[in-house]
Amino acid sequence: MRQWSLVSGLIVAALPMLAGAQPAGGPPPRPDRIVLLHAGTLLAVPGSSPQRRMTVVVRNDRVAAIAEGFLTEPPGGSGGAVVQVVDLSDRFVLPGLMDAHVHLEHEPAFNRRRAERGDRYPPASGTPGTKAEGAVNAMIYARRNLAAGFTTVRDLGSDDQAVFAVRNAINAGRMVGPRILLAGSAIAVTGGHGDSTPIPATGHDETRLADGTCDGAIECRKAVRYQYKLGADVIKFTSTGGFGSNTGLEPQLFGDEIEAIIATAHLLGLKAAAHAYSPVAIKDAVRAGVDSIEHGFLLDDEGIALMKKSGTFLVPTLSASYPPPIFRIPDPPSVKLRNEHRAFERAYAAGVKIAFGTDAGTFTHGDNAKEFGFMVGFGMKPMDALRSATVMTAELFGIAAEAGTLEPGKLADVVAVKGDPLADVATLKTIDFVMKSGVIAKRDGAMLEPFSYPPPSP
Ligand SMILES: [Zn+2]
Repeated sequence: MRQWSLVSGLIVAALPMLAGAQPAGGPPPRPDRIVLLHAGTLLAVPGSSPQRRMTVVVRNDRVAAIAEGFLTEPPGGSGGAVVQVVDLSDRFVLPGLMDAHVHLEHEPAFNRRRAERGDRYPPASGTPGTKAEGAVNAMIYARRNLAAGFTTVRDLGSDDQAVFAVRNAINAGRMVGPRILLAGSAIAVTGGHGDSTPIPATGHDETRLADGTCDGAIECRKAVRYQYKLGADVIKFTSTGGFGSNTGLEPQLFGDEIEAIIATAHLLGLKAAAHAYSPVAIKDAVRAGVDSIEHGFLLDDEGIALMKKSGTFLVPTLSASYPPPIFRIPDPPSVKLRNEHRAFERAYAAGVKIAFGTDAGTFTHGDNAKEFGFMVGFGMKPMDALRSATVMTAELFGIAAEAGTLEPGKLADVVAVKGDPLADVATLKTIDFVMKSGVIAKRDGAMLEPFSYPPPSP
């Protein structure tokens, strides 16, 4: 997958530290920063056993070493670096969490406020109103995701401009937020789950492209290329209808459209994510090589076998099947559907790869960790739930060499909680400490203010 956004952010953040980058007579080079994190319990690699009394040595944005005991000096000396010791000796420390399915431009409370104000706006459609409101929302909600311990999130469907701008500002160190991988507009067919172009259609190609709307293989290739051109990190397409748009749950794309979308994404080095409920649509997408099935509530046994064989991820979004009370929906059909089919339970039992994803935005941003409770409540081992939000999401995103575990050379994305999440995943709802790319964003339960990267040199 394309990692420009990830890599460019690192380069920008690292520039002030490169002595050679300073012009003659400019300010002196900033010294390296070393942080010694004293972890009472450290789960460095979810899936393997936690260790007691460990030190995570962070140098600038990366993990430099993992050492036994509580070090007060960096191994090999400080070498002129600024050294900080952070006492997490009574905390449980683990890699930063990742959510594979969020929508950063909106959430129910925002939608309802708009509706109550009488704005000409359908509250269930998931669109944020104006682009400007979408941008402001994305700034606020991105920060809330980070405060909840989610150091990387994947936005699977948003306005084509607002979240791009927010991602770029975060990567450039101008704003606080999680690392964002984004899809831009989800690709959808005319009248499908995700087509929000006006009726009658304007006929303007650019409007349809910006919205990700396409019909036929050629148009769908073009729609994918358009999101790539805008800077998408991943391609999302809505293979079936959905709850938010009242377009049903049945297939909406022909096989050649599905193949065109996935093949074009892969040609461009991007992963492809399919919103899919109908078992036929799921299997068509899996056969065409899709990287993840989002929701997948109607997954059948044949689909499970196919996903296991192909190594396709399921992103369960269990939280999304339980609409928040603010919607005041009696007997939500999504709950009935989920509980009848139990796709998550069956896929997990069969050994299908599961990547943590919530659909935050259909509920309040920052409540993402409630998904852990659903996963464990439906039979997943707590360790597997933690793995799904770290190791597995990193693999799905194509960033496993950079994130997902705390190992030397990887990005220093670290969270800590009081209590033991392996005994009670509910502890993950109260994140005490957050470090992203070596910068402490939250400590003792409070976001640090001001939290900023060094300003760029003049
Ligand atoms: Zn979604």
